[in-house]
Amino acid sequence: MTGSRELSGYFAKAKLLKAAASYRQPSTDQLCRCRQGAFRTSYLTTGKSLRRKGTVRVETQVLIIGAGVTGAGLSRDLALRGVANLVVEQADINAGASGANHGLLHSGARYVSNDPVSARQCKDESRLLKRLAPECIEDTGGLFVAIAGDDENYLAEFPGLCAEQGIRIRELQPQEALDLEPSLTKDIIAAYLVKDAAINPFRLTLENLDQAEALGARLLRHTRVVRFELRGGRISRVLLRQRGVEHDVAVKAEQVINATGAWAKNIAALAGLDLPLVCSKGTLLVSQPRITRRVINRLRPPADGDIVTPAGTVSLIGTTSVRLAEPEPCDPTINEVDFLVSEAARIIPSLAEARYIRAFAGVRPLLFQGEAAEKDRQLSRGFLVLDHAAEGVNNFVTVTGGKLTTFRLMAEKTADLVCERLGVSAPCITKKVPLQPRKARQWTEAGKPARKWLQGGDSNDLLLCECEMVPRSAVDQILADLVAQGVPFDLSDIALRSRVGKGSCQGAFCGLRLAAYLSEKKVADFRSTELLSRFLEERWHGLRPVLWGTQLAQEELQEALHCGLFGLELESP
Ligand SMILES: Cc1cc2nc3c(=O)[nH]c(=O)nc-3n(C[C@H](O)[C@H](O)[C@H](O)COP(=O)(O)OP(=O)(O)OC[C@H]3O[C@@H](n4cnc5c(N)ncnc54)[C@H](O)[C@@H]3O)c2cc1C
Repeated sequence: MTGSRELSGYFAKAKLLKAAASYRQPSTDQLCRCRQGAFRTSYLTTGKSLRRKGTVRVETQVLIIGAGVTGAGLSRDLALRGVANLVVEQADINAGASGANHGLLHSGARYVSNDPVSARQCKDESRLLKRLAPECIEDTGGLFVAIAGDDENYLAEFPGLCAEQGIRIRELQPQEALDLEPSLTKDIIAAYLVKDAAINPFRLTLENLDQAEALGARLLRHTRVVRFELRGGRISRVLLRQRGVEHDVAVKAEQVINATGAWAKNIAALAGLDLPLVCSKGTLLVSQPRITRRVINRLRPPADGDIVTPAGTVSLIGTTSVRLAEPEPCDPTINEVDFLVSEAARIIPSLAEARYIRAFAGVRPLLFQGEAAEKDRQLSRGFLVLDHAAEGVNNFVTVTGGKLTTFRLMAEKTADLVCERLGVSAPCITKKVPLQPRKARQWTEAGKPARKWLQGGDSNDLLLCECEMVPRSAVDQILADLVAQGVPFDLSDIALRSRVGKGSCQGAFCGLRLAAYLSEKKVADFRSTELLSRFLEERWHGLRPVLWGTQLAQEELQEALHCGLFGLELESP
């Protein structure tokens, strides 16, 4: 969309933004703010060998590339062992698979047939996370259900396969399952209760990073790794480029960790290495309202369209598995959405008519195991920790694959390897130390903000997002964090840290209010119409494939508001 008018009439005090006045480049102090001794980042001199307007040079013990849940978990693990680290992320936290997944904390039962190692890891890690990060988890429990026509051999094997991995399940009569979850189909032929749960990946990553930063780690968002310089079998410097910043940043790190998920192959290529990874896209649908209390899995070997996970006030229906050449672009398609609706409706008939407010897609990195594995569903969901010393790059490690559920273990194994190289003997303590929840992070949880606002709400605290009831005070908390980081931000950065834009209006009303509010506060570096356009464009990618029924009417209202009132134009398809 392109903007032509400002939102000055929307809030009485809303004014045009003054771009230059609001944006500040990260200062030397900001780059170096860290605990004495724990983090040795330092600003050196302006380099001459590199292009653009000079180079800021930074030193750290460990550079972590990627701020998904794996990078965040690693940063915390290393910081808890006293190891200085800097995380760099090309976009914002959870920009990859960590922000585009099913939010299912796996009990392990899904993988018992084709991936027993992942099944055991999920079983152990989900137990740990329920104890150490309860604020990120809704312990819903789960059901595996088979319907008439499903593979009866698999039904017969399932209890034994779970027992082999120590995964506890309880058989239910079909009617018992229906009593627990009345929206299930009457065609159920078998059902088991399992210990699945729902997990909030945004809160999980944010809280890992919060704790890491409190211990001296640093995060640079909107900062992309663009080049490695190699000398003497090591990465001697890593060149970074920051959004909206004139200079480059060159990092000298004793160890470099590639935690870039589906991008891991591209980062390894910067060191001249080839990783045997393939990219597999998974699409998910968001239904409103929430359809079930528990996680529902189809009782069959992992396939497409066989899971429904609750997430606060909505349900997530997924997923698909489509091979991609590169991790980007990865938008959901209408065909995938149609497939998911028809497949999910076989276990929950009301899903055929439900309101879908959005679709989204994420990319999994899977280990290519030769042509023997014909389908991506047969490739392991296990993780890889690759020590590239074997290929002649002595201070470079890649960690990729795995699950959200196993991120802590992935971080532990990677940090063990890196600490051994650094000569750090401190053991991993993330198995014992709980995450330390921050109040500001509660705004990422669907449904909770509404309850909190109603219970303790201050009637003067204006609601900026009415669907998800996010008040001005919450946005102020988030803004304070973002401004302190000194990197330019827009509405998407706020949406990522709250429920803004995630309700049924998908930004139609809260987008306007938020753009006007930022304009009023003079804290962003774009004109308010530009802010709004970019936000709505981003939401549009997820709306396009679900435009029928009520959501189509909602979108038409949005178009009338934005194009009719504010002169914004829709992006051509
Ligand atoms: C559709 C789907 C559904 C899933 N559902 C579940 C589930 O229900 N339960 C579960 O346990 N797991 C699930 N997973 C798996 C889980 O999401 C991933 O295992 C996990 O999020 C991977 O996290 P990560 O940090 O390793 O990678 P990512 O989250 O992908 O993070 C990699 C980061 O690296 C950054 N990056 C890339 N290149 C650069 C660069 N040059 N410079 C700087 N930064 C860079 C990216 O922007 C990205 O933020 C699902 C995955 C998908 C795709």
